[in-house]
Amino acid sequence: MSEKMRNGEEPGRGGDELAVDRFALVEVIPSERDFIFLDAERCTGCGNCVAICPMDLWRMRGGRAELAEGYRGVCVECGSCFIACEAGAVDFTYPPGGTGVAYRYA
Ligand code: SF4
Ligand code: SF4
Repeated sequence: MSEKMRNGEEPGRGGDELAVDRFALVEVIPSERDFIFLDAERCTGCGNCVAICPMDLWRMRGGRAELAEGYRGVCVECGSCFIACEAGAVDFTYPPGGTGVAYRYA
């Protein structure tokens, strides 16, 4: 994962204004399979997913949403994109056990 992506500079809304390290308390073991799926035919272009994703993993292109290619190494599995998509265009399941986000408490 690039330092730019860690800082939210790509993709999505840009992260120059972000002064926090969002990976300070988490680490991600990327799943080998996808666990978020976008049905582009259902997407209305409302932008809810772009607005709500805490990791800036969504962006709009050509009036439709697009999920970052490298999302499996960044997504914190909050499910907000799934919940916020009123069109039902986003399908979310948790990645397989042993992969995905792990939170540090120490
Ligand atoms: S589950 Fe959360 S972090 Fe992952 S893409 Fe959706 S909104 Fe972003
Ligand atoms: S929330 Fe759903 S309908 Fe709205 S832009 Fe994102 S994927 Fe498309």
